[in-house]
Amino acid sequence: MDQSWAKRAEKVFLRNYYPARVSLVKGEGCRVFDDAGKSYLDLVSGIAVNNLGHCHPAVVAAIREQCGRLMHVSNLYQNPVHLQLAELLTEHFPGGRIFFCNSGAEANEAAIKLARRYGHMKSGPRRHVIVAALGSFHGRTMGALSATGQTQYHKGFEPLLPGFRHVPFGDLAALEAAVGEETCAVLLEPIQGEGGVIVPPEGYLKGGLEICRRAGAILILDEVQTGMGRTGTIFAHQAEGVVPDVMTLSKSLGGGLPLGAMLARGEAADSFEPGNHASTFGGNPVACAAGRAVIETIINEGLLEKVRSLGAFFTAGLEDIARRRGTISAVRGRGLLLAAVLTVEAAPIVEAALERGYLINAVQKQVLRLAPPFIITEEEITSFLRELEEILG
Ligand code: PLP
Repeated sequence: MDQSWAKRAEKVFLRNYYPARVSLVKGEGCRVFDDAGKSYLDLVSGIAVNNLGHCHPAVVAAIREQCGRLMHVSNLYQNPVHLQLAELLTEHFPGGRIFFCNSGAEANEAAIKLARRYGHMKSGPRRHVIVAALGSFHGRTMGALSATGQTQYHKGFEPLLPGFRHVPFGDLAALEAAVGEETCAVLLEPIQGEGGVIVPPEGYLKGGLEICRRAGAILILDEVQTGMGRTGTIFAHQAEGVVPDVMTLSKSLGGGLPLGAMLARGEAADSFEPGNHASTFGGNPVACAAGRAVIETIINEGLLEKVRSLGAFFTAGLEDIARRRGTISAVRGRGLLLAAVLTVEAAPIVEAALERGYLINAVQKQVLRLAPPFIITEEEITSFLRELEEILG
């Protein structure tokens, strides 16, 4: 394998990322190819981004067409693609209004600002506290980082933004105790992704919404990782019979292009006035054209049903291995956002899988995340499971 790029990269990039082991030059469907032509089955989807696989023809065609028509306009003006994507998304989020941005962290920053404005308008600056969960991940910008409930990401960046409180995830009593007159919002992931693919107990989100209602706070759900079909419904909260006041999206929303969104409804949506928030590239026509192709493809090709059935198939396969090998102690997740909890370190397993041509990643020290594209086949899952069992053996 040509490693000369590794030396060049070491010179020119800041050291915020761990050094890469492979350089990828091409993607097609569920596969990516490195600079030596080796092919890998992508079971992380660019971390829950390439939900339709790599270079899906509908997304590529939409981007190509839009690039030749209009690539950028300021939000001083409307553009039809921006509007069409907003209409498509709000079909699945009744009464919602949208602000577009470029990433998950930015979407959460927008939600934090909206929550603060909501608190100010309702009860004055006293109502400014956002209650979030331990183990959560909301992004790396200062507001999103302060909301993130994992101290490992905070170290060396203090002081963080004031006004965040963290409670154990999945514990309604703890949430109730933390929410009060100073709370403007509760911010939760429907399933914690980076925290280790942790599914809360049934009724947690519903209970969270009721706590918010009683306290006069809003419920914000961070669906950056769980949204756009990843867990088998367009948004994960739909499976819980709950509609939050605010929802954030990104990752797979732009089919591989940078695109984020904050959606708000009801009183929360009325908190922003002209001039309160903005983004130069938010609502970019090319990213929105890709987003429109993504959502249309998910719906028109019946991919949600596929996510549910492939998720069940993958889970059953992992559970089979768990029964045969002590190295998997639990399997969790929903749809195609899955995790295998190991009794050994995950990093060497990720390395061994890479050598064998499979991209997987570790979300916690002993947790493997599996989030393949929705177009993966049962045969591809089976081939991976066979190799994983060998590696674990
Ligand atoms: N929120 C969640 C739930 C995420 O999983 C992530 C990224 O992993 C983010 C926010 C941050 O997104 P971005 O990296 O696009 O800023």
